[in-house]
Amino acid sequence: MNIVLLGAPGAGKGTQAAKLVAEYDIAHISTGDILRAAVKASTPLGLEAKSYMDKGELVPDSVVIGLVKERLQEKDTEKGFILDGFPRTTTQAVALASELSELGRDIDAAIAVQVDPEVIVKRLTSRRLCQSCGYIGSQADASCPQCSGEMYQRDDDQPQTVRNRLAVYEQSTAPLIDYYRGSDLLVEIDGDRPVDNIFATIKATLNQRLG
Ligand code: AMP
Repeated sequence: MNIVLLGAPGAGKGTQAAKLVAEYDIAHISTGDILRAAVKASTPLGLEAKSYMDKGELVPDSVVIGLVKERLQEKDTEKGFILDGFPRTTTQAVALASELSELGRDIDAAIAVQVDPEVIVKRLTSRRLCQSCGYIGSQADASCPQCSGEMYQRDDDQPQTVRNRLAVYEQSTAPLIDYYRGSDLLVEIDGDRPVDNIFATIKATLNQRLG
């Protein structure tokens, strides 16, 4: 099963991706995670990406497309994958379609998780992540409820950067919803509900679509 997860930053893509990966045993490809790891390791890619990420801007298409093409060559993606945070522009979506067609693979569904922007600002500015296991929690978690690890705030979850990320989403990424609607792959999900309810809807829709 090959899935694209669409949605504004903070819509809950990461949380749902983790659950889908556990349920269907498919590879999780998060361009944000790959870029953050590169920034942390101060690789040439990380150094280039950091200035864009700190401002809440998109990293250039050529860089991100190259990353995803490389990742899709890896063996674990053959059993299926979930793309989380990619594509984010029409250029990326077109490049993905052409790469998958070369690899003889298809996207089965593009799941768009929809959440009101006001809710998103609140969610992102109070979001905290576990340093050790990556658990996505909130300000209310003094330590990680999964592994007791230390929680931290992403640099780009500061209010000003969050607003810019949402503006970038509206301008560059929201049009992808129509792109995938046009190819009959779009599944729209109300993301302003408890995590497990959203997951149940996604699972039911996928099982129905894929038989
Ligand atoms: P995310 O964790 O998906 O919210 O991504 C964090 C940041 O990484 C974004 O604000 C962008 O700066 C960068 N990024 C992640 N994925 C992409 C992408 N597909 N295209 C361009 N920039 C990206």
